[in-house]
Amino acid sequence: MQSALPIYHQSIDWDELYIKYPLPDVFAQTVFRWPRDRIRALQNERFMEVVKTAWDNEFYRSRWMAAGLEAGDIRSIDDITKIPIFQSSDIKDDQAAHPPFGTIHGNVREYLKTRPVKAQTSGGTTGRPRPTLSGPIEWELNGLTAARGLYMMGARPGDVLQIPATCSLANLGWCVYKGAHDYLGVMPLTTGSGVVTPSRRQMEIAFDWGTNIWVCFPEYLTQLAKVARDELGRDVRDLGTKFIATYLGPDLDNSLRRQLEEVWGCDVYDNYGTNEMGQGAFECEHKNGLHIMEDTLFVEIVDVETNEPVPDGQTGNMVVTILHRHLPPMIRFNVRDLQRIISTERCECGGTFRRMDKLLGRSDDMVKLRGVNLYPMACLPAIKSDPRTTGEWICVVDRTQKDGVIRDEMVVRVEVLRNAPSREGLAERLSKRLHDDLGVKVVVELCDEGSLAEVANLGREGKPRRLLDRRHKQ
Ligand SMILES: [Zn+2]
Repeated sequence: MQSALPIYHQSIDWDELYIKYPLPDVFAQTVFRWPRDRIRALQNERFMEVVKTAWDNEFYRSRWMAAGLEAGDIRSIDDITKIPIFQSSDIKDDQAAHPPFGTIHGNVREYLKTRPVKAQTSGGTTGRPRPTLSGPIEWELNGLTAARGLYMMGARPGDVLQIPATCSLANLGWCVYKGAHDYLGVMPLTTGSGVVTPSRRQMEIAFDWGTNIWVCFPEYLTQLAKVARDELGRDVRDLGTKFIATYLGPDLDNSLRRQLEEVWGCDVYDNYGTNEMGQGAFECEHKNGLHIMEDTLFVEIVDVETNEPVPDGQTGNMVVTILHRHLPPMIRFNVRDLQRIISTERCECGGTFRRMDKLLGRSDDMVKLRGVNLYPMACLPAIKSDPRTTGEWICVVDRTQKDGVIRDEMVVRVEVLRNAPSREGLAERLSKRLHDDLGVKVVVELCDEGSLAEVANLGREGKPRRLLDRRHKQ
């Protein structure tokens, strides 16, 4: 007797899937090394498939028709700029008007009768979480893309990978678990965050069970090393870690990477991904930019204000079209992460997938100061450049009026370590470095360790706040 239930493992044609999206070791030797024109042709084919799906999706059809598009206007990926760009607030509006999942997801309850669905949320810093659903193919690619990234960084069967991120509505724990378990012969230790498994226990497990790979955020890696030293009397270097996959942020001078590599005694690689795309980009052993996963993702970089594409090398918003996504399609989605393409040449590793920079920040946080676009995250290298700071800061923008002249000023408030030997010359040094990095003069104000915790949302759920713009709140 045949089951009538929507069985996950019967909802995918697995052979076809792996021909279309090769498994990690095959990927590394095939599509990843293809010439650019062949990759473009593949992207074109997948792009046309998702466009076809989108015309049957109310969210896209209504927006595209309002923009004057008709079916047939998009004949190839060369026409992509005719399609209007959208962003997460558009999905939020759609979901508010058509709760809970919006027209972008279609009739979910009906869909569930034939195929399984998984819901994940964006790692938003404010407001209610925004759900993105995945059908079987989207969910599988979530794990497969993560597996490819880990493979390129050196994960192999027999390794043990610890992932201190909770498998919740947030995606990271899930995609790494799936990638390691389903595709690499790597045993995932899903210890969850420090709330689920306290840091001391995390390290006991790591030493006892032989963890040799970590996927973890930088801040927690430093915390784990400290706990191992203070509470277990052990040096994390004794773990013999093979590598760490992390998210370095705007670590443009690689100082954060060097610090982590020193503490842990292993290679540290940068990564990029979202719950919609899975793993979107990864570093290879050469650490010379993040290879975009171009057989599943088409990336454009556009001007923050005009949405017009910018030349390679120039910073702008990252706009993505996810080539494997049909539930829901993601076509010209402005992630509002600041990025730039740094190379379209073949890499030393043999890969031809374009490389992008480390994550430069969020354009939501952009502040215009005397005609210059500033990104508070860009302060990070300067703040970290002096060991007397705690590494925490917040940018405060105020508007002053003097003799009828309006002037905007940005003060960068920087925390100084309680036991710092002295503060002499620190403000001047930071202010000079910030002037060099940001291209505009800012005032540096030193403050005591811990004093920014409240205003910068440190040590709590959600990401730290780096900008306080007080110009329009009179
Ligand atoms: Zn490479």
